[in-house]
Amino acid sequence: MQVKYKRILLKLSGEVFGGVQKYGIDPHVLDVIAEENKGIKKYKIDVAIVAGGGNIFRGLSGSAKGMDRATGDYMGMLATVINALALQDALEKKGVDSRVQTAIEMKSIAEPFIRRRAMRHMEKGRVVILAAGTGNPYFTTDTTAALRAAELDAEVILKATKVDGVYDKDPMKYPNSKRFAKLTYMDVLNKGLKVMDTTAASLCMDNNIPIIVFDVTRHGNIEKVVLGKPVGTIVTKG
Ligand code: UDP
Repeated sequence: MQVKYKRILLKLSGEVFGGVQKYGIDPHVLDVIAEENKGIKKYKIDVAIVAGGGNIFRGLSGSAKGMDRATGDYMGMLATVINALALQDALEKKGVDSRVQTAIEMKSIAEPFIRRRAMRHMEKGRVVILAAGTGNPYFTTDTTAALRAAELDAEVILKATKVDGVYDKDPMKYPNSKRFAKLTYMDVLNKGLKVMDTTAASLCMDNNIPIIVFDVTRHGNIEKVVLGKPVGTIVTKG
């Protein structure tokens, strides 16, 4: 079967890692994500995953409680490393080879992020899990996803969520909310739709990287995206 994308960047937010729990890591979700990754191995596409960290710590919530913002952000970046290691464990249990690379060096547990090495791993069929965000405070892991997708020549960002796309209103609260099949970067920026923060969305726009917002917990969705079947909401230049 013909694949649409040969290299994808999957962004897993802390909310996804948390699953049904409000805090911490849900092993069931990790198992599902690992299984989905195993399912697409046969297509031999390159996969990089950016781990979020909001299920453990967010810099902004620390600073709201009086903590220095940069310190809180470093704690948030460390939280993404915890998620990345948990994901690596789940992937390896399913026989999916992976490497964790961190933007803040911590050599005893992971490789540092080195662009060419990350590319090489993907070419060898290893999933590269990118942790510790950009390594800089005041950024988010969505911005990390946009940056790494551009650097690593990924053709698309798959933004995994627990709902099947972008809605005009919160679908959990309003049963009559409408799902968008397509959006432009400008729609996202002007309407303030909760796809990605503005830094991330504009980086995607400048580099013309499509974003697909989709429900990662639904079986077969990653495979459908890879094959170019319509899933969730796609954000492009229009
Ligand atoms: N963070 C940061 N720089 C980065 C990426 C992340 O400082 O380049 C920090 C920031 O404090 C953020 C936390 O790490 O709140 C967790 O990342 P994020 O909120 O993006 O995770 P998600 O929303 O995906 O759960």
